[in-house]
Amino acid sequence: VWFQPQYDYQTKAYTGAEALVRWRHPHKGMISPGEFVPLLEHSSLITRVDRFVWEKTCRCLRAWQDAGIAVPVSVNISRMDLCQPDLPETLTELVRQNGLAPSQLRLEITESAYVDKPDRLIAQVNQLRDAGFSVEMDDFGSGYSSLNMLKDIRIDVLKLDMKFLSGGEESRGRQIVQSVVDMAHRLDMRVIAEGVETAQQARELTALGCDAMQGYYFSRPLPPEELEKILRAAGAQAPQPAPAAMMPS
Ligand code: C2E
Ligand code: CA
Ligand code: CA
Repeated sequence: VWFQPQYDYQTKAYTGAEALVRWRHPHKGMISPGEFVPLLEHSSLITRVDRFVWEKTCRCLRAWQDAGIAVPVSVNISRMDLCQPDLPETLTELVRQNGLAPSQLRLEITESAYVDKPDRLIAQVNQLRDAGFSVEMDDFGSGYSSLNMLKDIRIDVLKLDMKFLSGGEESRGRQIVQSVVDMAHRLDMRVIAEGVETAQQARELTALGCDAMQGYYFSRPLPPEELEKILRAAGAQAPQPAPAAMMPS
């Protein structure tokens, strides 16, 4: 399990990280989840992988907390996981066993999970939030149901992937991001931009009011010990990744 940090450009602080699974194959080396997660999602095998990732993440959170490092970490929850009626209890038990507060484990649910069983998803999300977990909608805007879903479900964070805006006219992309950020804030949600690759994107997203960012510009996903190193080096305040001249005024 590797971790990609999330960064708040305004306060210059790391505000979290996302846990991303990797497969270290004995002959083929590192295999990216894009190659195997979609296959596992066809069966209940994904629930076992996800469980493994949540456990590893909680153990890391525990160790980091003991070392004085406290950032919340987001884990991916797949559609199959949401079909488990005892998901809120499972996650609550997991954080309890590791002596963590539920707010330290954030849950990313991809919006496509909404498509088949909206009622069940609404009930699950409400239960997870009642249990103290923060719920993030992953890949917001890349599917079909986002706006409808927001009407029915209370979500804490929208994750907006910059990839989905690429290829279009730049000024239209900016208007879309601005509108999404405004809407999110009106509905009391935060926005995390994902796939941020350039200083210019980071600057613009900050100017548009994006709350945090994640992407290669700040850091690639890292093994836990490397994430720990940069969090430790940053203390509460992270070093500025871009030259000062590039910051928005
Ligand atoms: P995701 O949840 O949308 O995760 C973000 C993906 O974007 C990650 O790919 C990350 O490495 C990549 N990324 C980060 N910054 C940038 C950037 O600046 N530019 C570009 N082009 N890409 C960036 P990764 O790690 O290969 O994961 C791919 C997908 O596999 C994830 O997309 C997620 O849907 C799935 N996945 C990963 N780990 C898990 C897991 O533990 N459980 C489940 N169910 N799915 C997982
Ligand atoms: Ca995700
Ligand atoms: Ca995503």
